[in-house]
Amino acid sequence: MSGNGLRIFTYHSIDHPPAGTPLAKLHVRPLEFERQCRWLARLGMRGVSMTEGYRALQAGRAGKLVAITLDDGYQDNLLHAAAILKRHGFGATCYVVTDTIGGTNVWDAALGVPRRMMSERDLQAWQAQGFEIGSHTCSHPHLDQLQPQVLAAELAGSRQRLQALTGTAVEHFCYPYGDHDAAVVAAARQAGYVTATTTRKGIAQTGDDPLQLPRISINGGRGIGKFLLYAGTRYAELRR
Ligand SMILES: [Zn+2]
Repeated sequence: MSGNGLRIFTYHSIDHPPAGTPLAKLHVRPLEFERQCRWLARLGMRGVSMTEGYRALQAGRAGKLVAITLDDGYQDNLLHAAAILKRHGFGATCYVVTDTIGGTNVWDAALGVPRRMMSERDLQAWQAQGFEIGSHTCSHPHLDQLQPQVLAAELAGSRQRLQALTGTAVEHFCYPYGDHDAAVVAAARQAGYVTATTTRKGIAQTGDDPLQLPRISINGGRGIGKFLLYAGTRYAELRR
């Protein structure tokens, strides 16, 4: 039923949506997240980091794993998601925007309702609990609209800062807005990333380009039914 592919789930904030936000679906409430993790465990599945998920994908053994990815680096990932993930023995990868460490999601400023991002200390606490850190660029730009040098700096600069902060290799990247073309993918490879994730829907397969992996977006405020289809069936593949 589940196949050998790797489900990579996309999350953003694990918190109640603030009043008036136009981005409510990017907030999964902590109780909702807890319920989803409980269901994964009940289905015999385990939440893992991109490193563990990608290793299993390469070996054709990822069918019972779900890579939990959290985009942008919101402080609520540490405050709410970490304890829930820990309780279930799950791993996860947070893709961090390095210019806004300790700040707010300024790229969404026009939409109002700013959100607090993890500080350096928060990121170290996240890592100390066994969770992984990947890169989501320096400034969350549309990468396919940048000059080559600026593109390279967004990819390499964010990686360098995160490696200095964590003391480990940063091998996983996520394209802001999912924007990527051949030049962007080549630049991600050049910067040294092993995997990169997109917003294309699907279950990652062993033969897929590791720098263009599909994901499954888990939106807040939905019932558990669709989540179970994504977790336990090939529904996301049918709707690629
Ligand atoms: Zn993002």
